[in-house]
Formats: sequence, C-alpha cells, structure tokens
Amino acid sequence: MKRHLFTIISAVSLLLLVAMVALWVRSYWSADMVEYDLPGTATVRPGLLSRDGSLRLNYLQFDHRTVQMPKGSMVPYLADLNERARFDYHTYTNTRLGMLEVAVWVPHWFLMLTTAVLPMMWSKRAWKKGHRIKHGLCLTCGYDLRASKDRCPECGTPIPLSP
Ligand SMILES: [Zn+2]
Repeated sequence: MKRHLFTIISAVSLLLLVAMVALWVRSYWSADMVEYDLPGTATVRPGLLSRDGSLRLNYLQFDHRTVQMPKGSMVPYLADLNERARFDYHTYTNTRLGMLEVAVWVPHWFLMLTTAVLPMMWSKRAWKKGHRIKHGLCLTCGYDLRASKDRCPECGTPIPLSP
C-alpha cells in the first residue's frame, strides 16, 4: 500500500513537473495571471502571475472608498521588479490610500527541481528493482540468489517463484 501511494504521489509530481516546464517556457512569451476577488469584499485580490521565469504570488488589499480597483487584469499595473528568475519579495504600502501590495517571487526552476525529486526517486527505485530481478539478486538487499532457494540467506526475504 505504501509503495502504491509512493507511485501515485510520484505520478502526480511528474504531471506537475511537466506542467511547470510548460509554464516556464511559456512565461518568456506571455504573462499568465490568475486573479481572484475574495467574496464579500471587493477589496482583497490575491493573484498568481507567471512571467519571465518566475511565479509571482501577489496580494493586493485596498480601501475601496479611496481607490477604484480596475476590473480587468492587474498585469499592466504590477511593478516589474523581478526579471531574473530568482526568489524575491516586495511590499508596498500607501497608508493614505489604504493600499497594500505584497508580492513573493518563486522561480520556475525551483518548482521544477522540487517536483522532479519524487519522479527521480521513483525511477531510481524502479531501475534498481529491474536490475535485481534481471540479475537474480534479492529484491531487499541485493544478495546474489542464484544458488539459493526459498529464502535469501543474507536477509531472510522469501524468494518469489520465478515465472
Ligand atoms: Zn536479501
């Protein structure tokens, strides 16, 4: 069960990795933005922007009595402070207007690296298992089982019946 779970999580991670690579390549062509006005207030707008090799997590909060929020995309209004695909952080406060802007940049390469870890571990494990089956080695410890029956003399793992 644990092994199946690992396979499933690795597969999900692989999908995320593929999506992240696609988004990374695309980010140099166009800016993709997801924005959301929190319900009940028209004053808080979190967003996620993919551009120039970085994901920008954006949080805008403003007093709608003093600031008229544009209805459409915020992309043209966002300060372009990170074009080097690195981690970054930026806050902007305008107390007079009651505006707060917080942005955190996470480069795509970091997310690609993170999502690549599990698929790499999975394929290494799969390769190791295939290698041990092919060469008649114990699946648990790698001991040479060609001269053994029933159990691995090294670790006691039962030897599966060969097909
Ligand atoms: Zn063994």
